[in-house]
Amino acid sequence: MARTSHKAALPSKLCQTCGLPFNWRKKWAREWDNVRYCSERCRRSKSSTAVSDASMKNPTVHKPEG
Ligand SMILES: [Zn+2]
Repeated sequence: MARTSHKAALPSKLCQTCGLPFNWRKKWAREWDNVRYCSERCRRSKSSTAVSDASMKNPTVHKPEG
């Protein structure tokens, strides 16, 4: 009787930033449902892609001499 004692497969998700799969971690035990990024780095760079910075150009008044 060769019984392969395989561990219970950990749940996994796809990172919303880099798209790579990552496995459940103990530190995410509580917030696994909310985890969407494989690392803190990806988590921070989530809003980096969505560039919504308004063109904050200084109103440089350039009056032509005349
Ligand atoms: Zn990632």
